[in-house]
Amino acid sequence: MKTLKLRIKDKHVNQLNKIAGSVNYAWNYVNALSFEHLKRTDKFFSGYELNEYIKGSGEYLGLHSQSLQAINETHAKSRKQFKKAKLNWRTNRPDAKRKSLGWIPFKKSAIKHIATRQSGGLCLKSTIQLSLSKGQKLIIDVFDSYNLSLYQINTLEIVQDSRNRWYACITVKEYPKQPCGTDSVGIDLGLTESATTSNGDKLTIKQTQKWANTLAIAQRANNKKRVKAIHAKIKNTRQDLIHKFTTQLVKDNALIVVGDVKSRSFTNKKTKLAKSTYDAGWFEFKRQLEYKCKHAGCQFEIVNESYTTQTCSHCRKISDSSPKGRASLGIRGWICAKCGRWHNRDINAAKNILAVGLDRLAVGIPFREGGSQINIDDCQG
Ligand SMILES: [Zn+2]
Repeated sequence: MKTLKLRIKDKHVNQLNKIAGSVNYAWNYVNALSFEHLKRTDKFFSGYELNEYIKGSGEYLGLHSQSLQAINETHAKSRKQFKKAKLNWRTNRPDAKRKSLGWIPFKKSAIKHIATRQSGGLCLKSTIQLSLSKGQKLIIDVFDSYNLSLYQINTLEIVQDSRNRWYACITVKEYPKQPCGTDSVGIDLGLTESATTSNGDKLTIKQTQKWANTLAIAQRANNKKRVKAIHAKIKNTRQDLIHKFTTQLVKDNALIVVGDVKSRSFTNKKTKLAKSTYDAGWFEFKRQLEYKCKHAGCQFEIVNESYTTQTCSHCRKISDSSPKGRASLGIRGWICAKCGRWHNRDINAAKNILAVGLDRLAVGIPFREGGSQINIDDCQG
């Protein structure tokens, strides 16, 4: 999570002052109530307990119920943090000796990003709709130097500074939504490399292999804590590698084509391959690509990958020299007997997968995954 601080336009000042007054009112009420409760019972209220007391008052105060909850939570938290029985009284009365700076909290369900637009100048402007009580809305315009439309908003606090300027402090997910790239790519999923693209980029995972010895030692020593830690390390590293690779793919491409991995029936045979199939992370790879593509507006296609290893990606013929069947798994490179081109086995397959995807899009043939007996979803172990 990170916080973006955006300046709110001055035209909203009066309205914000008024709402901030309601927040202060609620704050002072819970502050007094907490103190009274402490005196009587010797116990502090939690934010949750306070909610019970203030329930339903949003309508009178003109505040959203979740804003009230946020006030209670902040009160309970600050009281704990400052180790105080009672916190400062809040007021925004202009003639008050100690004026509190305005503060209005909102939670996710009360926040809606309406629009971001370019309107003269260099800065973007965004409009945000915030829910108050009973269908009442507060609509604010902000100067937007971040482009809010790229982010997922989590919470929003409206705050005032000592110069009477108002800001929206918005917590967002760390990474903005990236629009996808413009290229096309095919991907061959494998074991030697978990994934190879038609451009020759490779994702190598092999974490189980890397940690095998360390893990064996820990297991022999019966060190359960260590074994657990190594498993977590393997899993996290695998996850991280896949994340980096898939993010880059979506960043570069507008179309991503992946094979349906139906020939991977060896996963259900209890061979050594089963383990490395899991280690290759195909399921996770596909899952991440799918949601990242959706998020960025990139097209994601799964195609039938039959013959993509055997076919020459240059002349599109299957020659005698091409790798065939399980026995050929060890063949990493080969020369096409028809056209004489040398191929890296995986890159050639990835190029063919891309070609199948492009052909299908050109003809518009719908493809349903699941025509195969084993599909990649079974590979998660
Ligand atoms: Zn050829």
